[in-house]
Amino acid sequence: NSRLPDVDPDLCRLIEQEKARQRSSLVLIASENFTSRAVLDALGSVLSNKYSEGYPGARYYGGNENIDQVELLCQRRALDTFELDTEEWGVNVQSLSGSPANFQVSFRGGVPWIFLSWQHNIGAGLTRIVMICLQVYTALLETHDRILSLDLPHGGHLSHGFQTPTKKISAVSRYFESMPYRLNEETETIDYDEMERSALLFRPKLIVAGASAYSRLIDYKRIREIADKVGAFVLADMAHISGLVAAKVIPSCFPYADVVTTTTHKSLRGPRGAMIFYRKGQRGVTKKGDPIMYDIEEKINFAVFPGLQGGPHNHTIGALSVALKQANTPEFVQYQKQVLKNCARLSDELQRMGYDVVSGGTDNHLVLVNVKSSKAIDGARVERILELACIASNKNTVPGDTSALNPGGIRMGTPALTSRGFGEDDFARVAEYFDRAVKIAVKLKGTEQGKKIKGFREMCAVGPSVDPELVQLRKEV
Ligand code: PLP
Repeated sequence: NSRLPDVDPDLCRLIEQEKARQRSSLVLIASENFTSRAVLDALGSVLSNKYSEGYPGARYYGGNENIDQVELLCQRRALDTFELDTEEWGVNVQSLSGSPANFQVSFRGGVPWIFLSWQHNIGAGLTRIVMICLQVYTALLETHDRILSLDLPHGGHLSHGFQTPTKKISAVSRYFESMPYRLNEETETIDYDEMERSALLFRPKLIVAGASAYSRLIDYKRIREIADKVGAFVLADMAHISGLVAAKVIPSCFPYADVVTTTTHKSLRGPRGAMIFYRKGQRGVTKKGDPIMYDIEEKINFAVFPGLQGGPHNHTIGALSVALKQANTPEFVQYQKQVLKNCARLSDELQRMGYDVVSGGTDNHLVLVNVKSSKAIDGARVERILELACIASNKNTVPGDTSALNPGGIRMGTPALTSRGFGEDDFARVAEYFDRAVKIAVKLKGTEQGKKIKGFREMCAVGPSVDPELVQLRKEV
């Protein structure tokens, strides 16, 4: 008998515990979702057993006739889902996750690299090839080319090239020179005028349009115009919002981007993974400054494999095909509309209760609440009290913050609970629970019990029994 409970009861118990945690808590983490049973079935399938380095029709292993079909199906569905013309756009579905996908796009350029002693068995004849070649890339970016992207404390993502004044944090910032653009302090929305000034000064080769904690629509058209003024490429990272884009409930980035990356496990509700969409004919400029059209299909594919990855995760690609099929249904569109309605209601309720919502509202699936300005409490404490009440959210920097470990905000998103059937009235209740948790955090701040929940390590040791109101809140949740 080789079933999991018999083979590994320890792991089985942990999985059951995690299932229970997911069931009994309110998941408000904006980047999480509950994927379907069908997707999980594909993830746990025999597709996981197969090695298939290369691409459909050109693999370095035999026996890939079915895997080729799986990958082609996934590509077809991906392009269909976003209604892309196959003459104009292509897609790579092998990228393992969002951060590598962004690096793969940037990595395209630069480093002369030696492709050494690459040995593979091909087909039934076990033909051995050894390829030795030297290749210099001159496509999207070269090492030390410049990237302009949204600052992490203002809602950007690490993989867009985040660095501090003293430390290069993301690998992207090690290979390339990155400069942040920021939010306007008054409106707390992207300051496009400032972005334009920075672009004219910094002359980036790539502008990243995308965010992890930004609750407003991005003006891709304006970013395209700015990029065109300095001859930069536009990379739209729609990781958070790809489900909303697929359902056409918010505007698409495709008309204005050269390359689009997305994770597949957030609002798109698929397995953990990523896709890279690319315009087959890519605008660019030569080193002399002359306009040129690059054909980057081969270069993107080469950057993924063999550039930065080995064998594709075929079970994930299969599971993604399922998710994309589900995303092409009227139910999915309905779901995404509900995600937006729920988020708008959550935002309205929070503001009615006196909370400062960054930018004054939301156009998408997330809200960012400034608990520091609203209630003089930090996001870390609130996150921990919410966690003790079985509400999963995350602390988040808000404009003006200087510490990511002790920021002033809480980010909440509606995709996961909407997948569980929550409607607007349910989210009004969620807002009420949130308010109670914040009040408990404020009450405990500075008390003996509160001291215990100050530092991260000590916080883990403290249970809900630290406060009777917290015990009650947890019961109700
Ligand atoms: N891009 C954005 C905008 C994200 O929000 C994230 C993750 O949250 C990523 C990329 C990275 O995705 P992953 O965690 O799969 O590497």
